[in-house]
Amino acid sequence: MKKQTLFILFLSLSFFSFAQKQKPSQPKLVVGIVVDQMRYDYLYKYWEKYGDGGFRKLLNKGFNCKNTTLDYIPAVTAAGHAAIYTGAPPGVNGIISNDWYVRKAGRRGNCVLDTSETPAFFSPCNMLTTTITDELRLSDNLKSRVIGIALKERAAILPAGHLANGCYWLDQKTNKWVSGKYYMKEVPKWVNDFNAQQYVSKYLSKPWTTLLPIEQYTESIADDNEFEGLQPGETKPVFPHNLPAISKGDTAAALRLTPFANTLTKDFAKEAIVQEKLGMGGVCDFITISFSSTDLIGHLYAPQSVEVEDTYLRLDKDLENLINFLEKNIGKNNFLLFLTADHGAALNPSYMTSKNIPAGYVHSAVIKDSLQNFLVNVYGKGDWVADVYTDQVYLNHEQIETKRLNIYNIQRQVADYMTRLTGVQTAFTTYMLTNSSYESGAGHLAQRGYNPQRSGDVIIIQEPGWLENAKKTGTNHGGVYSYDQHVPLLWYGWNIKNGSSVEDVSVTDIAPTIAAMLNISFPNGCTGKPIPALFK
Ligand SMILES: [Zn+2]
Repeated sequence: MKKQTLFILFLSLSFFSFAQKQKPSQPKLVVGIVVDQMRYDYLYKYWEKYGDGGFRKLLNKGFNCKNTTLDYIPAVTAAGHAAIYTGAPPGVNGIISNDWYVRKAGRRGNCVLDTSETPAFFSPCNMLTTTITDELRLSDNLKSRVIGIALKERAAILPAGHLANGCYWLDQKTNKWVSGKYYMKEVPKWVNDFNAQQYVSKYLSKPWTTLLPIEQYTESIADDNEFEGLQPGETKPVFPHNLPAISKGDTAAALRLTPFANTLTKDFAKEAIVQEKLGMGGVCDFITISFSSTDLIGHLYAPQSVEVEDTYLRLDKDLENLINFLEKNIGKNNFLLFLTADHGAALNPSYMTSKNIPAGYVHSAVIKDSLQNFLVNVYGKGDWVADVYTDQVYLNHEQIETKRLNIYNIQRQVADYMTRLTGVQTAFTTYMLTNSSYESGAGHLAQRGYNPQRSGDVIIIQEPGWLENAKKTGTNHGGVYSYDQHVPLLWYGWNIKNGSSVEDVSVTDIAPTIAAMLNISFPNGCTGKPIPALFK
């Protein structure tokens, strides 16, 4: 061989070994966005009224996983946030609902409340597995930093994981962004400085009017209708909503029911990025942002309302502002952003029946009383039902054991009784969920949501369009059908190409997808898989 050829061979070999040693890169910042109660159809329903820089930018330049579902029940906030960030269903990660009946305590407990000390304090103690944010921290000996932000405690705490550097939510008593003793002794100075600006009072000093002239809200039904709830002091559910009058003495709670609370969340997140220099420290950091107002407004007014439409048009502006901020401060291809939802919501059942579509309401309290009477008739006197909550029946195990009855027989009888009730389609017992393997349908979703230590004895499945609601106005969510299960999943930024896919995706696939992109471990209870379409 000639000297020259040898030299070239040597050069290419040394380049090859250098390239081998070079670790694959990571983005400077991962931005996880959860829009609480965002139905998939909102992406397209309001398309023409969105600007170019918000939702439409994510769709036109990013990647749309069009067939993303929760793939478990209950479809509620805490379960959604935990499933997204742990890559595991509620049965595995332990967050089976926002709160659930705790048998040992004999009462309901909040999913993020640690009651091991008095006073109780907020923490991710009930989440049994790691999150993708935990795994990022563990991957580089805690150099990467994680901050979680949301109006609701659970929506800030569960995504940020067990190892969060900071976690903040809006306290409804003080109107301030706060954290808890699990995370820090006191909040940093920048948080106090932000709170000193009194944004809550400023936003509530003016009425909530529509962003566009109200006659342009043609995707929604008339502003004045019988399917919407009322804010305190209001006699009609119509614009303008007089926030100074509504908010008297109850300010942060009132702000939560306006789109301005999303703006406040976005501005606080931007401040956190600047002050904590997230994405500016030579490692990959992670910020989790959850927009909670969409859920509270959705519950009160339901998806067909002008209020919900206006909330999304304003959120679109907030997203545009956030994306522009990230592109300027972190760099266009330096951050990886995903946007999804923790659950959807049903259209208002009374609105549906007014259009001749079957729908209706069930009431837990009514179910509990009727079931108790049924069990007294069959088994005699006693408190047979401990709780009926989020479509779960908790039987009184002590009573059943004292009377030496077979619990599986009673569960079966309770499930049969449930299916006799109007609006109930079927019911699953503990025995069914632990002794069969459901590949699809409601049984599959119930099985993935079932945790033997925390779930009830019988899981109730309603008919399509039916929902648990104390009021006839507004809406709710939680069930097995597409309006609750189907959520947006958009990816944008670092290494994301433009496109879309209709492959089946579960929200539990989000965390392993990020893990594969970042070359770090999957969360320790993860059952999801990286989404192939994003790696083609
Ligand atoms: Zn929610």
